[in-house]
Amino acid sequence: MSNDNHPSEIDQLKSNRRGLMVVLSSPSGAGKTTLTRRLMAADDNMTMSVSATTRQARPGEVEGHDYYFVSKDQFSAMIENEDFLEYARVFDNHYGTPRAPVEQALTEGRDVIFDIDWQGAQQLEQAAVEDLVKIFILPPNMRALESRLRTRAQDSDETIAKRMSKSESEISRWSEYDYVIVNEDVDKALSDVQAIIQSERMRRRRQMWLGPFVKALIDGG
Ligand code: 5GP
Repeated sequence: MSNDNHPSEIDQLKSNRRGLMVVLSSPSGAGKTTLTRRLMAADDNMTMSVSATTRQARPGEVEGHDYYFVSKDQFSAMIENEDFLEYARVFDNHYGTPRAPVEQALTEGRDVIFDIDWQGAQQLEQAAVEDLVKIFILPPNMRALESRLRTRAQDSDETIAKRMSKSESEISRWSEYDYVIVNEDVDKALSDVQAIIQSERMRRRRQMWLGPFVKALIDGG
């Protein structure tokens, strides 16, 4: 092997790369959905984990894109079949991350974004520490949180009140995360998330696929 740094050789080795699992958690209304959408649009190598949920679809939500909307019985059957990587009860509904698409994406070297809560993040931590990066998104203040929930205007007053009262306890979980971003400005928050992902991809332990290339460099003198 020559010591010529030919890009196609790197690209070939890179196909052995395993993807990252990037968890983005936040209280409802902290702007995470917009952030995630823009993150996905900006990076072809990224895929979104689509959760299954027993909650009702909101207007505009699309089956298989936003969620897989399932009945309680279907959800229980999925638990029984060990179809979930993690699952949790959030508010009055059940949410779970289907295992198979995530494993396929990671094996193909694609990074997977998870919009899941702290309970899900904890379970993934137990299952897959090596691949996991946990980011917590904070709202700039509680007023911003409520106004975003109201602008969404898809939940009843009662649901909004419930979500607001849960926000404090969700926020108190921030210390369990690797990174924290205050979403004052969505452009800035987006570039912060991208910087984190880029750095995590460059970690030496995640670039062991470079081994043959480095060996060739050394052997080449
Ligand atoms: P929403 O009903 O507003 O779409 O989501 C409510 C909460 O459930 C959000 O905090 C969201 O991150 C969380 N969530 C969505 N899908 C999952 C999942 O598959 N697992 C877990 N643990 N939480 C989820």
